[in-house]
Amino acid sequence: MALEMKTECERCAQSLKDDGEAWICSYECTFCSPCSAEMNNRCPNCGGNLQPRPRRTEGA
Ligand SMILES: [Zn+2]
Ligand SMILES: [Zn+2]
Repeated sequence: MALEMKTECERCAQSLKDDGEAWICSYECTFCSPCSAEMNNRCPNCGGNLQPRPRRTEGA
């Protein structure tokens, strides 16, 4: 079960780097840090909690 790495914020379309800060809910809705903060870490699509996305690590 691979986690899809989305490349931009779903709210403001800001590009998100693989190793940058991003927030994701359990349904893989992805947002940038400022948007997540404005939404109180709550996903507007499914109402789930947003959590810091794990950073992609080499050889993991
Ligand atoms: Zn955003
Ligand atoms: Zn969501």
